[in-house]
Amino acid sequence: CGIIGIIGKAPVAPLLIEGLKRLEYRGYDSAGVATLVNGHIERRRAEGKIARLEALVGSHPLAGTIGIGHTRWATHGRPSETNAHPHATDRVAVVHNGIIENFQELREELEGLGRKFETETDTEVVAHLLTHLLEQQKTPQQAMAIAMERLKGAFALGVIFAGRSDLMIGARRGSPLAVGYGDGEMYIGSDALALAPFTSRICYLEENDWVIVTSKGGEIFNGPNKVEREIKQTAMTGARVG
Ligand code: GLU
Repeated sequence: CGIIGIIGKAPVAPLLIEGLKRLEYRGYDSAGVATLVNGHIERRRAEGKIARLEALVGSHPLAGTIGIGHTRWATHGRPSETNAHPHATDRVAVVHNGIIENFQELREELEGLGRKFETETDTEVVAHLLTHLLEQQKTPQQAMAIAMERLKGAFALGVIFAGRSDLMIGARRGSPLAVGYGDGEMYIGSDALALAPFTSRICYLEENDWVIVTSKGGEIFNGPNKVEREIKQTAMTGARVG
């Protein structure tokens, strides 16, 4: 179970997979990536080893200079391609580590509003909740602020938005997430190890922090308030894997 997200200059799919390989040590049962291609969300997901995902991306290449990736350790819904992250609607793609404790209640509420669910996961409510809020004309930032209040449980989240190739949102509650600062490129990841091939300038989010990331940097919030967090130089070095 790990998360990686990249706003880059070149196609990010191979870099996302490289980051995921560095998170393999945490254990997982499936893996996936999502990018924006001409503003639309595209995904590749596979049950089993990251090598299978890599082979899939090899045979069905994935363009896009912004993307998120995930290794899953299933808690709700069996390991399968359908239940593998990222979970997506036409508007957002979401990766999640942890458990959304009130997913059942949120799912019923969102299904009552006409939203159709495709998976057995707790995570899918995050995608539908954000989509519902965006359809209510909320901005991604407003939608995330509301989602942070509605979601109960433990999570690290990474989100990208259709049509927004320069925006990624991350969040942390009870599950770690780091922000990596590159040169005109930005990253999120479960730990500094995952980001080591790309940058050594890291900021660890604190409990309940969420971050709006663009290619120029990150703006961190805690609840509705903007907060300052220190960017640290890590000693971790990044020999590329594979
Ligand atoms: N609860 C989520 C799921 O089962 C995320 C699990 C994880 O942390 O990888 O899909």
